[in-house]
Formats: sequence, C-alpha cells, structure tokens
Amino acid sequence: MDFFPIFLRVRQSRVLVSGGGAAAVAKLRLILKTTAEIEVYAGEADPAILAWADRGRLAVAPRAIENADAEGATLVYAANEDDAEDARVAALARRAGVLCNIVDNLEASAFLTPAMVDRDPLVVAIGTEGAAPVLARKVKAHLEERLPATLGGVAVSARAFRPKAEALPAGARRRSFWKTVFDEAFTRAPGPARLDDLLADHLAETPQPGRVLFVGAGPGDPDDLTMRARRALDEADVVIHDRLVPGPILELARREAEIMEAGKSGFGASTPQHEINRLIVDHARGGALVVRLKSGDPSVFGRLDEEIDACEAAGIGWSIVPGLTSASAAAAALGQSLTKRGRNSELRFLTGHDVKGLADHDWAALARDGTVAAIYMGKRAARYIQGRLLMHGADPSTPVSVVENAGRPDQRIVASRLSTLEPDLSAAGLEGPALIMLGLAPREAAAQARSLREAAS
Ligand code: SAH
Repeated sequence: MDFFPIFLRVRQSRVLVSGGGAAAVAKLRLILKTTAEIEVYAGEADPAILAWADRGRLAVAPRAIENADAEGATLVYAANEDDAEDARVAALARRAGVLCNIVDNLEASAFLTPAMVDRDPLVVAIGTEGAAPVLARKVKAHLEERLPATLGGVAVSARAFRPKAEALPAGARRRSFWKTVFDEAFTRAPGPARLDDLLADHLAETPQPGRVLFVGAGPGDPDDLTMRARRALDEADVVIHDRLVPGPILELARREAEIMEAGKSGFGASTPQHEINRLIVDHARGGALVVRLKSGDPSVFGRLDEEIDACEAAGIGWSIVPGLTSASAAAAALGQSLTKRGRNSELRFLTGHDVKGLADHDWAALARDGTVAAIYMGKRAARYIQGRLLMHGADPSTPVSVVENAGRPDQRIVASRLSTLEPDLSAAGLEGPALIMLGLAPREAAAQARSLREAAS
C-alpha cells in the first residue's frame, strides 16, 4: 500500500480548493458532504459554485490562492486544470505544511480522494491507488446496491443507543445484541422502539458460560488450518497462543479478540504453566470463549492435559479441535510415508527434551533397522540422540532428515545420516522450529511433488 486510508477530521477545519471549473465542481460535490469550512479560490467560478456560495455552503475568493491563505488549512485541492498553476499551488501548500491533492495527478499528490459509498456516518472509501479507477467504480456500484440506504440511520440510532446497551455486560453478550441489530438492518431498519425490544430480549437471556477450545493451528501455513479451527478463531473472545503460531494465522482471529502470547519454548523466557492455566481459566470464568491455540496438533507435546485439568478443576467446559501435527507436514516435505509395509509398522513421536532435560527413550528399540521416529524439540539434543542410538547398535548410515519450518514457505530440509547428524545440523545453522525425522530420507521425487503442490495451491 503506497497510500494509507484514514478518516480525517474536517469539522471546523478549512479545506481549500483552487480553481473554479469542472474539476473543482466535481471535487466540491464530495467535499460538500462534510462539515468542513470550504474556501474556493477562482478568478472565474462556475455558476454551481456561486450558487453554493449564495446558500452559504462555501466561501469564494475571486482571485488566485496566495501563500497566506494556506496557513492553518487542513487540505488543499489544486483543481485549476492548468499544470503550471497546479504546481504553484502544490508548492505553496507544501511550504505551509498542508497536504495537497492535484486533481488527476496521482504522482504529485500527497493524498487521494477515494470513491465513496455514503451512508453517513457509515462511509465506505474505495481506492485503487490510481491502478484501476473503473474497478473502484464497479466496487462502488456493487456496494451501493447491497447496502440499504437506511444503514446510516441505523448507525445514528445505534450511536444514541450505546449507553442503554451498556446494561448488557461488555463482551460476548453485548456483541450478540449488536449483531442481531445489524443483521436486521439489512432487511428493515430497526428504529428506537425495536432497539428497546431487542435489548429486553437479550437482557432476559441466560448468559452463555465461558468455555475453552484447545485448537491446533497446524504447522504454520493458514491453508493448513482446519475449517473448525478457522471458525473457532472467527468466534474467539480471547486467543492465547504459543510462540510458534505465526502472524498470518493470528490475523484470522476476530478483530475484537484479545490476543495474547503464552510463550513456551524449551529455552529462553517462557510463561510458567500455572500462569497459562490461570490465564485460560480467568478469561473463561469471565464468560469468554477462549481459544487456546497451539502449534500443530494440541495433543502432541502441548501440555494439553495440564490445561484440561485446570479447566476441569474450575468447572469450565472445554473441547479439542485437532490440528495437523508438524510430523505430517515434515513427511509431506520429504515426499515420504510415515509408515510403510515391510519397513515400519509402528511410528514413534518423541521429544528431545522433557521436563527433566534431555529425554530418555527406549534406545534399543529405536536403534533397530527400519525404525521411523519424528523427534520434536530435538535440535539441541541431536548430539545426545545420535550418541545413544549408535551406542545401542544403530546403523550409522541410517537416513535422518531434519525439516525446518515444515509446511511453511521457508521450509528447509537437511538430508543427513545418523553418523553425521550433529555436524550436519550445526553446519546448517537452523533457526526455526525443526523436526528430526529418524529413518526417512527425502525421496528424490519430493522436490517435484512440492512444486506440483505449489502449482495446485
Ligand atoms: N503440537 C506441536 C508440537 C509442539 S512441540 C505439533 O503437533 O506439531 C514444539 C516442536 O514442534 C518444535 O520444537 C519443533 O520440533 C516442532 N515443530 C512445530 N512446528 C514445526 C514446523 N512448522 N516445522 C518443524 N517442526 C515444527
């Protein structure tokens, strides 16, 4: 975006228009929708402008604009339809520190006037940064058709009704009231009496208790979210997420949702588990729909049980929305199956670290030929894992692949063998989350499959 859309306060502010011809008239039609104090500078002004002046809607100075005029103004429009005069006006505005728009000259303008759908105080501004004005008009026509003319009136009534609506507690219940009001606004305009009725209905409803959804965010690409997870994000009052959940997924949360990170990583600063439990429970007790968003699948190395126990102890309802665990994304990146007839009829998910530090496992079983294991949180434990497996007789040439940022655009694969795992990993200098896939090498066709997947997406 080269232009940032904002709504500028113009009440009791001066908006100046230099020029008195058709371009000035067109702009004035828009500016006259506002409460700005409008001044037109024109040696010769169109009759329409003079008529507006007669009605006291604007002031006309029958001369060219001068430096002193721009002092303290909020906006200046150069609508002289004369390049030299427009440039002079733009320079004069710049010197006075006032934003200037030159009509039909995007490059030299400090701001643009968007196409508008006016249901004041509801205003939709549409712009294409000059790329496709006809598209802007098409979008405008589209919206004009769909937004009832009465919407502005509804917004005005809503504004006046806000203090009354405060009888409902802030949060889900009040939002639900307004949602009903605005759902109706598209079919009939609810007047003040109807607002009173709707409020009475909502006050009479027994409030929904808060609850908690433990939601899997998948490996990191929003496309890998389940529909159920998307819906949960769309409805959440509060989202408490892991550090590993990336921004593009958080952006899908309802705009009004309170979003907080409950950072937990094997290393570095993290929120203690009892704090996270408290956050979840406190918000749900207050009546909120809490989405506890965990990377991958919430039931895989996510300390899910501790959080469920906290909910149970507080008598709070909960459910689990499963997600795609990162091992699935890593296997897809390698173009490999996690299980295979004749190779492995079991699959292990391990953690490199547990609460006590480096995790202990059944190394003898893991060292057997054909074992496939997805090792989570294993980057820093790689040397230890490698040593244990070799000590228990694993074949040093066992393939091991490390998949960093699996399923994300910056995914990387380090193809290694057990004998060289640790040095290969150090050399790769991985910084993102990574899975060590013991017993799997990237299939040669994997690269091809990936590009097909990209082509399909
Ligand atoms: N519940 C998560 C795992 C949480 S434990 C899941 O089901 O995937 C955190 C570990 O998961 C990280 O240390 C890393 O080993 C792994 N991980 C999570 N996201 C990953 C990703 N996109 N790519 C590779 N590994 C990932």
